[in-house]
Amino acid sequence: MNNPFKLLGISDDVVNAVKDLGFENPTPIQEQAIPVLLEGNNDFVGLAQTGTGKTAAFGLPLIELIDFKSNKPQALILCPTRELCLQIASDIKNYSKNTPGASVVAVYGGANIMQQLREIRNGVQIVVATPGRMLDIIGRKAIDFTNVKYVVLDEADEMLNMGFQEDINDILSTTPDDKKTWLFSATMPPEVRRIAKNYMDNPTELTMGTKNTGNVNIEHEYYIVRARDKYAALKRIVDFNPEIFAVVFCKTKMDTQDVAENLIKDGYNADALHGDLSQQQRDKVMQRFRDRNMQLLIATDVAARGIDVNNVTHVINYSLPDEIESYTHRSGRTGRAGKTGISICIINSKEIGKIRQIERIIGKQFTKAELPTGFDVCEKQLFSLVHKVHNVEVNESQIEQYIPRIMDEFAELTKEDVIKRFASLEFNRFLEYYKNAPDLNASADDRGERGLRGDRPERGSRNSEGYTRLFINLGSVDDFTRGDLLSFVCNNGKISGKSIGKIDLKGVYSFFEVEDATVDSLFNNFKGIEFNNRGVRIEKSGDAPVSTRGGGGGERRSGGGGYGGGERKSYGGGERKSYGGGARREGGNSGGGFRDFSGKSRDDRGGRREGGSGTGERRRRS
Ligand code: AMP
Repeated sequence: MNNPFKLLGISDDVVNAVKDLGFENPTPIQEQAIPVLLEGNNDFVGLAQTGTGKTAAFGLPLIELIDFKSNKPQALILCPTRELCLQIASDIKNYSKNTPGASVVAVYGGANIMQQLREIRNGVQIVVATPGRMLDIIGRKAIDFTNVKYVVLDEADEMLNMGFQEDINDILSTTPDDKKTWLFSATMPPEVRRIAKNYMDNPTELTMGTKNTGNVNIEHEYYIVRARDKYAALKRIVDFNPEIFAVVFCKTKMDTQDVAENLIKDGYNADALHGDLSQQQRDKVMQRFRDRNMQLLIATDVAARGIDVNNVTHVINYSLPDEIESYTHRSGRTGRAGKTGISICIINSKEIGKIRQIERIIGKQFTKAELPTGFDVCEKQLFSLVHKVHNVEVNESQIEQYIPRIMDEFAELTKEDVIKRFASLEFNRFLEYYKNAPDLNASADDRGERGLRGDRPERGSRNSEGYTRLFINLGSVDDFTRGDLLSFVCNNGKISGKSIGKIDLKGVYSFFEVEDATVDSLFNNFKGIEFNNRGVRIEKSGDAPVSTRGGGGGERRSGGGGYGGGERKSYGGGERKSYGGGARREGGNSGGGFRDFSGKSRDDRGGRREGGSGTGERRRRS
């Protein structure tokens, strides 16, 4: 029987490789783009979201078109972030694993350049690169692009957002005029259109869905709440979705930190991802999220760009993005690889206009949703527990020895009593928490929030009298104990240990109190202080950032990761075709579970939290 990829013109070696990845049928973009790109003689513009299978849409034709007998670079793929770069390189290596002589190199910032130069020297046909590092290597005259036949600009809109326009110009000027350029972008703002115009010759244009349209598998909802209820609304949404696996977007790093911190305190399995964290920390956070050891990833737009994790059930816009276009990128973190997803906006009544603007851009209507009542949440959690108990896998051989004793304990109880007790074990906590829970819904014309203090969630802890609570971007992830942090602050801040009050050690950050009188000198003394080559930042907790390092470096996008074909779901439009198979699928939803209402965070319970995030390449080469 003919394999559908083979019917599109893909050779046996590559077909076998993608079969091993669990790809059974091409995704719609692959179906449409592969035959066009295989012709190899035209420029191409593909409007496609991440998660649609676009890497294989350009990767498979590239492998077919390249002469692997020659060891010269023939294809250059530019993408905005290190994570995406690694992801694409790894995907193409997988697709070409049976292709003799194929060599792919990933060139990205923040990693050892010597190793990358060595790989290039050894001979490579496909170079996957982020613009900054690529330009660096070109500047060293360490690569020869005179044989390049194809340039792929992946996530072109993101590259432009990140200020790579000039770098791209410089890089492309080193490639031959007659090369073919293939551009992929989730959105088509005028700047991307301009690239298409400047660099391309009558490109074939392929649009998956309407222009700038979000993924069809994503439902969009908004909830109107008063600003002061935003955090409670977030928790209620999470509680109402026991199996949630979500990315929560905040506008600023500080909000991200605040929300993550409060969620952790309230017993949720959450962590923050933003640009003040080192690459290593960011990788750790992402790994935990990918492995589903974390349920809620609280992220800034920039840090979360390109997060490439399958099976994200919800995207929650804790605050709406400033740039309406960013909404498409945010919501594209869910509904990947044929799955469905929900993108939620928690807004106040004055932001309805922005929702309407987003609707116009994505060409889809939002549903106005009502926050569930406390009773609804309890009911939902109860039945989630019931289903879990029903479906739990019993380890017969291990539990057998205890059964007589267990039966003994329950001898007095009827089956119904036992069931009631098991269910109540968790249910009681929800009932307790949600008894008297207020209605958090605000009406669209509610003006009651005027005069309220901003959107910042309430902080769990307050300063002690005479002390100021400060945030520091170091924590247990940096192998600090409370004592280590105390001496670090005292030594670098040149203050006595007596001036320090409570220390609240977290994963990637911590809080500590200092006497009010020493705050200014502490800030001064901390200017320029670094730890492990990372600028140390202290801020008044809940205040605007007080950076201790000039420059700031600029966050870069994170993401990459997630493989796997996913389940055998049909891809769009109700077609009965399946694609996917699951050979390399990411785990099922092991997250979930009931949150701990003891008020203790994971840290408090002794589990070491990992943290992460960080910066990638600098925006502009200096
Ligand atoms: P991409 O848009 O390239 O990031 O791909 C999104 C996800 O879909 C990745 O996990 C791919 O491995 C997976 N994928 C891509 N093409 C297929 C296919 N034809 N069948 C099954 N899974 C696919």
